[in-house]
This record gives sequence, structure tokens and C-alpha cells, in this order.
Amino acid sequence: MAVAIGIFGALIGSFLNVVIYRVPVKKSIISPPSACGSCGHVVRWHDNIPVVSWLALRGTCRDCGSRISARYPLVELGGAVLFAVVAIRFVPAIVDAGANQAAIGQILALIAFLYLAAISIALALIDLDTATLPNSIVLPAYAVGFVFLGGASLATGNVAALATAGIAAVALFVVYLTLALVFAGGMGFGDVKLAGVLGLFLGWLGWDTLVVGALAAFILGGLFGVVLLVIRRASRKTRVPFGPWMLAGAWVGIIGGHELAAGYLSLFGLGGS
Ligand SMILES: [Zn+2]
Repeated sequence: MAVAIGIFGALIGSFLNVVIYRVPVKKSIISPPSACGSCGHVVRWHDNIPVVSWLALRGTCRDCGSRISARYPLVELGGAVLFAVVAIRFVPAIVDAGANQAAIGQILALIAFLYLAAISIALALIDLDTATLPNSIVLPAYAVGFVFLGGASLATGNVAALATAGIAAVALFVVYLTLALVFAGGMGFGDVKLAGVLGLFLGWLGWDTLVVGALAAFILGGLFGVVLLVIRRASRKTRVPFGPWMLAGAWVGIIGGHELAAGYLSLFGLGGS
């Protein structure tokens, strides 16, 4: 199951490559079809197989021989890995639910987090490229999260999770809004809008996931900043996009939030499980 969803993730990754290049310049993501950036030849379907085609053509265009960035297959590989991770994290709950209404709820949760995986990859790379997080990707995520996670809560009878998600979305939005207002030039308002989305998804999984996911962003981003200073690739004034760290931190929370929080609490003899 994880392998099948991973292959699906590679295909989605192929589409995300289009999203990453076209959304920031406000081009259609549906047409025209993908073409070589050098010679303009439309990419043939058999040269558009995720990862495999890039390797088979040794990273060059079939028509003009110009180099094709290794980022294309890496995004496809990233999609495959993250989708497989989501499958490993969420499919067992579907199996455990058996053949009843709760299984439908867990399937809705799986779809919600696969969607989050896809937009996470797109947003991280767009933020690195352009230092923006496009509203056209961030804002619909509130609606998609609310509909799918809300449906999942109703089908599994866990309405408390939806309430937690709503409170967490507002809470993380307010934390980032405060940071953006207090430290002008640090956080952007794109980060603030993304924070609400991440609060919604993390909160649905529980308070421990929210806390781990939110803190991990600052720990990862902070460590990276220190490394940049040490290897002198940055000065104290260099502005590093924070969106990729918010997203990476959120995924630490989604994958290992329960375990990390429980492990941390047990260090101090607290925590029940
Ligand atoms: Zn070409």
C-alpha cells in the first residue's frame, strides 16, 4: 500500500514541478503542456515518467541535448517519499477501523494529509525560489483541511479533534501574526497565513502534535541559521525564508509528534503513555 501511494506521490511530484515554476509567475498549470526550456519541444509522454525518464536521458533534453535540472527528479522523489510516509502513518488506522463508517473517516484523513504533503513540497520550493507563499495555494488549504478533517471527525465520531483543530489554527495564526508585527522584516504575512493551515492539520492530530510541530520549525530553522553563520554563508542580516522550516517542523510533528512528546515528558517522570 505504501509503495502504491509512493508511486502515486511521484506522479503528483511531476505535477508539482509544473506548479512550482508556473504559479509564482501566474501561468496556467494546465496548459500549455511541459516543454524543454531551451528548445521548446513539448516533452513526450514517455519522457515524462517520474525520475525514470530523467535517469534514462541522463538529465538532458532528447531534442536539443541541453541539461535538465536534477531538481525535477528530486521533487518527484520527494513526492514519492513523503506520500509513502503519509501512507505508513495513516493507513494502519484505516485497517484497524474495519469495514464501517470510521474507516471512511480515516480515508478522509489520509486524503487530507496527502494533500498537505503535496502543497508542502510546492510551498517550500516556491518560498526558497521567490520568498513568497502564494495565496492561491495557501488559502484553499483552509477549506480543504476543514472539509476533509471535518468529515473525518464526523465519520469517526471524534468531534473533539475538529474543535482542537479550529482552536489550534487560530492559536498558531495569532502567534505568527504577533511575531510578524513585533519583528517587522522577520516573518512575512505569507508565513502567518500558512501558520493557520498548519495549526489546523497539526491540531486535528492533537495538542502534543501541534506543540512538537510548531517548536520543531524554530529548532530546525534556528540550527540551520547557526550552521550558515558558522560556515560563513550568511551574515546576521541574511534573510532566510522561514516557510520551508515551518513545513519541515510540521512534518516532524505529524510523523513523530506523539512519540516525541511522550518521550520528552517521560524524561521528567511525567506523561501517562
Ligand atoms: Zn530541448
